[in-house]
Amino acid sequence: MNVSVVGTGYVGTTLSACLADLGHRVTAIDIDEGTVERLNEGETPIHEPGLGSLVSAYAGRRLTASTDHAAAAETDLTVLAVGTPAKADGSIDAAALVAAAEDVGEAIAEKDGYHLVVVKSTVLPDVIEGEVVPAIETASGKTDGGSLGVAVNPEFLREGSAVDDFMNPDKIVLGTDGDERALDALAELYQPLLSEWEIPVVETGRREAAMIKYANNAFLAAKISLINDIGNVCKEFGVDAYEVADAIGLDSRIGSAFLRSGVGWGGSCFPKDTAALAAAAESVGYEPLVIDATIELNDRQPERLLELLDAHVDVDGRRIAVLGLAFKPGTDDVRGSRAKPVVRGLLDRGADVVAYDPRAAENMAEAFPDIEYAGSAAEALEGAHGAAVVTDWPEFGDLDAAFDAMADPVVVDGRRVVARREGITYEGLTW
Ligand code: NAD
Repeated sequence: MNVSVVGTGYVGTTLSACLADLGHRVTAIDIDEGTVERLNEGETPIHEPGLGSLVSAYAGRRLTASTDHAAAAETDLTVLAVGTPAKADGSIDAAALVAAAEDVGEAIAEKDGYHLVVVKSTVLPDVIEGEVVPAIETASGKTDGGSLGVAVNPEFLREGSAVDDFMNPDKIVLGTDGDERALDALAELYQPLLSEWEIPVVETGRREAAMIKYANNAFLAAKISLINDIGNVCKEFGVDAYEVADAIGLDSRIGSAFLRSGVGWGGSCFPKDTAALAAAAESVGYEPLVIDATIELNDRQPERLLELLDAHVDVDGRRIAVLGLAFKPGTDDVRGSRAKPVVRGLLDRGADVVAYDPRAAENMAEAFPDIEYAGSAAEALEGAHGAAVVTDWPEFGDLDAAFDAMADPVVVDGRRVVARREGITYEGLTW
């Protein structure tokens, strides 16, 4: 197929490269000239395992990039994958998505025949029906259900394993309200994956498809917040929450995934998606008790980590190492990272923060330009009076000798990644 993908961030770049790998001809469209230039040169603007080699293999061949939305008219279908950040009140800022929808609408206005627009960005049902569909219809002069089709196809990939997740997903959700032309086009798009793996395909309404993404993320975030809540109770009673989690995970109704208690969840999705769902519920007069508690518990975890540090060292005026800045290992993304409240809390206490991350230091420097960034974990630990471990990069499990170079070997571990326990003051957040 000839496919256009609008928005080439984490999702759009992964999607573009993977669709090219599946044999489609892909035009990636983004308003950011630098991103477009890099893609055309065969470079990826983001770090994702396996993505660089795909982009360099297909750039200039089956994968081209452009800043001009008009390119969408030359394709069979357009996927919208632009960002949908949260406003200050938690509700969705759909301005970029609506602008992209208008641009695509204008592009396809003169196109003869049917064009399918696939919404992959995460937005609530009312945004799709009330803003995105009308924007495309008005700009294109085409009618939804006529020569225009709009489908909702949420994305469930995880940063850090985006390529693998896209290529072998747990499910594919197609929200089309039963529109046969849209279903046929999406079947052709995903055919190379579906012929290789047994992937459940959920055919549903557009509104349901949009909500499935929010429910998915709210459920996962709540599972982590619940195990963190249990972990905090465990810590108070001298119980190892990981031994408890291992046992409860054997119950097939609970399952063993997402039971690693610690300093909390982050990233570009869980924080904004739970906030958007809560804000939407409140806007119609419903108080979403569990979702609210999920968010609040998560907001409190970094402070619990810092209180553990406070119990052993007065950080005011002292060099304190923060190990791990990315919201999780395998990515350079610091959006929603728990390292941000940890660094902020340390600065508020007067600490002299030295941070290290193998990938994410550059991105973190945009939020905290004035703290020190070390070139290695060992360099960050040297002379430090305490260390907070915030991301479970595997290399932090192998710092045994580096702890000896600390002025005060006080280590608070928010991810249960530090192996050494002897000869240092070690505190696990929930164990
Ligand atoms: P991102 O911020 O990394 O990328 C968004 C891209 O859109 C940027 O490159 C930006 O320049 C571009 N853009 C903005 N306005 C545009 C326009 N009018 N035309 C063309 N390009 C435009 O975002 P992301 O993390 O890739 O997320 C995209 C969507 O996918 C969001 O709705 C997000 O919630 C959802 N999602 C993200 C993930 C994830 O792990 N990051 C997973 C599933 C779903």
